[in-house]
Amino acid sequence: MRIGIVGAGAAGLAAASVLKVEHDIVVFEQEEKLGGLWNYRDDPEKGALYPTLRTNLPRQLMAFWDFPFEDHFPASSGDDFPGHETVLNYLTAFTAHKDLGSLIRFNTRVKSIQPPDRLASNWRLVTCRGETELFDAVVIANGHYDQPRLPAISGVQSFPGTISHSKNYRNPDSFATKRVMIWGAAASAQDLSREISAKAQQVFWCGKRKPNSMTLQQSNISYHADPVRIDGQSVLLSDQTCIPEVDHIIYCTGYHYAFPFLSDVIINVSNNLVSPLYKDIIHPHYPTLAFIGIPYLIIPFPLFITQATWFAALLSGKHSLPTPNAMEKEIVTEITAFRQQNGKPWHYHRLGDQQGPYMDALIKDYNGKPVPELFHQLAKSAQLRRQQDPEGFRKLTIKQILNNATQL
Ligand SMILES: Cc1cc2nc3c(=O)[nH]c(=O)nc-3n(C[C@H](O)[C@H](O)[C@H](O)COP(=O)(O)OP(=O)(O)OC[C@H]3O[C@@H](n4cnc5c(N)ncnc54)[C@H](O)[C@@H]3O)c2cc1C
Repeated sequence: MRIGIVGAGAAGLAAASVLKVEHDIVVFEQEEKLGGLWNYRDDPEKGALYPTLRTNLPRQLMAFWDFPFEDHFPASSGDDFPGHETVLNYLTAFTAHKDLGSLIRFNTRVKSIQPPDRLASNWRLVTCRGETELFDAVVIANGHYDQPRLPAISGVQSFPGTISHSKNYRNPDSFATKRVMIWGAAASAQDLSREISAKAQQVFWCGKRKPNSMTLQQSNISYHADPVRIDGQSVLLSDQTCIPEVDHIIYCTGYHYAFPFLSDVIINVSNNLVSPLYKDIIHPHYPTLAFIGIPYLIIPFPLFITQATWFAALLSGKHSLPTPNAMEKEIVTEITAFRQQNGKPWHYHRLGDQQGPYMDALIKDYNGKPVPELFHQLAKSAQLRRQQDPEGFRKLTIKQILNNATQL
């Protein structure tokens, strides 16, 4: 088969490495370099990294299954959580090892993708240069950390201070002596609170309840409920309290999924819920259209390889799909059940604790090697350590994290 892949980030590279074994592959990458998110650029409008960013997972979890991180980039003392440059070097080494370089067309943005129809039996992919390419299957691996999500909040238009999104953060200098509100509950809010508190007068971390077990070393970070209204420089919170004299607001509220090259008749994004997708990978009516990397709150690189291997096995006939109607029915049932449990649509693709069962189910379909129990233990323990000690977890060695894992 001839397969087109959109994106040469970790997900696109994972897909290319697996699919090239049996198929002809072309990877389209809009930038001049591979690596996606890990391709750091100084421009605050480009990419979501900042110079000091280190991974929030130990390097043992930052690897594709058959290309161990520590074999190629071993940790020096106190460096089990590598900086972003090391992750890019890892992805570059993986690309060379799998001989993927010649498959990638750089500086080539995919503009539109048309499905097979009565007139044509192939996918038609049009690039930014107007070239049309025909493919038997298409893999979407365009990432989802590019379009900032800015939830509405009343009064924000009249806020006299400055506002930004975590995507545009590069360093804490401009926050010196400022009172900064950081809104968000996830990893970016955690890292930015820590970095910015080194310069700011006070950091108000909103949307995060301080866990009992959390150690707090910086006295100028305080934890608060979600903001509900802004009145001048005051931020009113959902627990009826108020933060006065805020100078700057940083939204660490995530990103939107976006597939501007696909018609929303094919794939719909509503409140950040992408549908219809069977197993978060396949379009039920176009089983030659696959998405790699949709779930979040995951261990990304191993999950990308697992999804890609599942898709490759499907194309090779090693497992099969239910009928399109049965898949569609299953998707609707799952979304309905999720909503009935008061799940917010924008959390639908959040796997968290469900990552293990999700990967196990995919692997079972293609009759692959089960995920080692130690991987699950390490993933769970690394997350626990991060929650317990957001300021210091990166100082832990893998041995200390694993010791913790054996106690779980
Ligand atoms: C601040 C931050 C910190 C993170 N830290 C970690 C961490 O510590 N560990 C970890 O494992 N994960 C981390 N992640 C998650 C990270 O996103 C994944 O590790 C991984 O990089 C996602 O890979 P991807 O290929 O899905 O997306 P991306 O890396 O975004 O790659 C997508 C690629 O598609 C290309 N593209 C998009 N549209 C088109 C188009 N139309 N045509 C052609 N090319 C296109 C882009 O240019 C890009 O190269 C972090 C994310 C963020 C935002």
